[in-house]
Amino acid sequence: MEHIENDEQFQGLRVNKGTSEQPTVNPYLNNFKKFKRKTYTASEYVEGILKGNITILGQAVTLIESAKPDHQALAQEVIEKCLPYTGNSIRVGITGVPGAGKSTSIDAFGMHILKENHKLAVLAIDPSSEVTKGSILGDKTRMEKLSVEHNAFIRPSPSAGSLGGVARKTRETIILCEAAGFDRIIVETVGVGQSETAVHSMVDFFLLIQLAGTGDELQGIKRGIMEMADGIVINKADGTNIEKAKLAQSHFQNALHLFPLPDSGWTPKVMTYSGYYEIGIDEVLKMIDDYIDFVKKNGYFDYRRNEQSRYWMYETINEKLKNNFYNNPKIQEELKGYEQQVLNSQMTSFAAANKILDSYLKNL
Ligand code: GDP
Repeated sequence: MEHIENDEQFQGLRVNKGTSEQPTVNPYLNNFKKFKRKTYTASEYVEGILKGNITILGQAVTLIESAKPDHQALAQEVIEKCLPYTGNSIRVGITGVPGAGKSTSIDAFGMHILKENHKLAVLAIDPSSEVTKGSILGDKTRMEKLSVEHNAFIRPSPSAGSLGGVARKTRETIILCEAAGFDRIIVETVGVGQSETAVHSMVDFFLLIQLAGTGDELQGIKRGIMEMADGIVINKADGTNIEKAKLAQSHFQNALHLFPLPDSGWTPKVMTYSGYYEIGIDEVLKMIDDYIDFVKKNGYFDYRRNEQSRYWMYETINEKLKNNFYNNPKIQEELKGYEQQVLNSQMTSFAAANKILDSYLKNL
């Protein structure tokens, strides 16, 4: 007997003959898996993106974010092919400390922008994501209204790599979004570090969100960030906070007078608004439109975009050179040895650097 357990003496127990291959519970699951795994050629990606297919756009952005060399190569091909269809958007950078109301405001600004029949992409550069491996910015759950809109594409910050690498990926994502027909782009960042410079280098208008404080608002804001801003807006100007917001507005206005006129020829404006209660949203958006009209007329718009292209050429070269150097296994090995000699005071830092660079350059 094959199964002794099936003998009459063991009542109530029955063991069936096993099957070598389990039937799938859902016969369509395999098809679905195949579908999920589908990879596209560069031309298929481009075709999908140009048609405004959000799923394909999302997958192409994932390629940009991937560290795998074959993904990178494919991503570059897609970007290259999309380039002729880009450049037709208004790109706005938004910065402010955590809690300033960036996501609430972008939700409100975004809904107004969509009402004007635009397509809006919200991207983010989060310098902390390298550490946290997750991203707090550009997160869909933070923008409840926008996240369910068909004409809005929300993408959190790429999480891996240096700030330069993360920023380059966001810039490349802008290209794909524009090719997919998104004519308004918002790039969000936290106003605490180096990331403002990166965002500033990829947008047409840079908006600084501030809060009214206790009279010393200007403290803690890096001078550089204020100098970069094309507009400063004081959020949460609602309820009992209106007076304080107005006071902060005049402080900022006075402070701005101390800076030289920016190259754009545009005097940065300071406004108050409430993202949560949607007071003054149209006025803020009008300020951005006015700025764009102004710089398009005086030629600064094209000038800034050209300068940005130049900046990104060098940034990309720097980043790729650095990666190529540090990812080289031979160099990694040699670095360890030289590092130890420097730590043991057997060699100066400069001599060690020169030796290792010589070795790298000889092997190119
Ligand atoms: P973020 O960290 O800069 O993205 O800030 P959030 O948008 O998450 O806002 C932080 C907190 O401020 C939340 O509790 C919001 O509800 C609140 N908040 C945002 N905008 C306003 C506003 O215009 N008025 C008031 N009273 N509260 C706001």
